[in-house]
Amino acid sequence: MRIVGTRVGDRSVTNSSNEADGDGADQPRLSFPQTHPSDSGTVAGSRRRFWVACVPIFLLLIVLLAIQQSSEVRTPPPPMQTFVRPPSKLPLPRVNPPPKKRPEPLVRVNVTPGGVESFQFEIRGRYEFTSLESNQKMPANLDSGVMTVSATKTGLKLGSQAMGTNRLEIRPEQSPAIRVNGHLYRGCMRLFQRTDGKVSAVNVLPIEEYLASVVDSEMPAKFPEAARQAQAIVARTYALYQIEHADPKAMFDLLSSQRSQKYLGVEYLDGSGRRLAGESDSSRRAVEATHGVVCQRHQKLFCTYYSAVCGGQTTDGRAVFRDAIDVVKSVPCEWCRESPYYRWTTELSYDEFQSRVLDRGKQRNKKAVVQSIREQSDPQKGSISRFEIDDGQRPVSVTGIELRERLPPGTLSSPRFRIKLEKDRIVFEGQGHGHGVGFCQWGAKGQAEAGRDSLEIVRHYYPGAEIATLDY
Ligand SMILES: [Zn+2]
Repeated sequence: MRIVGTRVGDRSVTNSSNEADGDGADQPRLSFPQTHPSDSGTVAGSRRRFWVACVPIFLLLIVLLAIQQSSEVRTPPPPMQTFVRPPSKLPLPRVNPPPKKRPEPLVRVNVTPGGVESFQFEIRGRYEFTSLESNQKMPANLDSGVMTVSATKTGLKLGSQAMGTNRLEIRPEQSPAIRVNGHLYRGCMRLFQRTDGKVSAVNVLPIEEYLASVVDSEMPAKFPEAARQAQAIVARTYALYQIEHADPKAMFDLLSSQRSQKYLGVEYLDGSGRRLAGESDSSRRAVEATHGVVCQRHQKLFCTYYSAVCGGQTTDGRAVFRDAIDVVKSVPCEWCRESPYYRWTTELSYDEFQSRVLDRGKQRNKKAVVQSIREQSDPQKGSISRFEIDDGQRPVSVTGIELRERLPPGTLSSPRFRIKLEKDRIVFEGQGHGHGVGFCQWGAKGQAEAGRDSLEIVRHYYPGAEIATLDY
């Protein structure tokens, strides 16, 4: 410590460190001028001067003591004594622990819908193999590069190696690392041999990572942000509902095709070998902005059916799906007018129509010709089309859904259309693309462009639904 010297009257009080003394102590050294009778005149006068000179010294000592005490205050207190609480019959006070976050749900997506004889498989980096039959780890020494996965009598075969198991999980150390038929996927992959001898690949991954690809797979990147966020909410609810209602014995919850919702993975190769993105910064943003947000009814998830274009009026869900609930009802939607499928027209020859629709096997009179088609519902009022076809034999009742299934794929874009009989052909005039139930993707685009946010869009298509955020 160094305290600068001060001067009081003609007496000097000098504090300096005692470094020069070499004793390490930090005491002030005081020096007084020699008193001399000739200087002061009397002994009483010199005593008075002595006491006057002592005042600043006392003050200095008080300051030093105060500093020392304050430094003692800063020293940590001695450790508290621990003691054992005596047993007591009184209940301990209840302290609610902070709510625990649920782990993010995993989704199991069959990326080879329907099963296949074989598929192409590739894995990069280190990985772990587990037999899902024995729950045992297996040696991981696959061939490098692309290999074919197929089934043998003794189980799965990967490349040249027989695995000796029908169910296998491959977990890479880093994700994404697995390709199936050219699609790169996040998470891990389960390979199955089905009872019909075909093989399937099921991608298992956290739901939010899955959704990042679903948004881009289902909706064009140029659609506005609010429409893509609404798509994320609807797709999340759909997937979680399917997970909740999956058969406990099922190996997967969803298909990667439009039969569930489209899922291309992180990237994929198109028919000409071009590498295309299956997710993007934009789709990941839409998913992140709506993390955990779902639609509910009476605090339960419901199946958020959705389609590309409703064509002016969505279809009542209960007319198409058995598990559709009341909020999946028909609502007007003029927001999808810009879509090329808002209205569409197609035609078929009488021969083709009759052979596919009126085929009654041996009972059919080959010469019978469609004479009249009577419309039994109005597709513009939210119902699917229903017709009674008269070919001079027994009248046939068919719905728009049945006609879509019987005619060549893609002939009818939706199950809502009218039929006109012309001289040499049958003309179909329809509206929308897809089943038309629930959320309308092109309608979401129109609403977002009109300034509506994602929640307003979702509520329009499921009126009465609650919007909730799941904590995971
Ligand atoms: Zn619409």
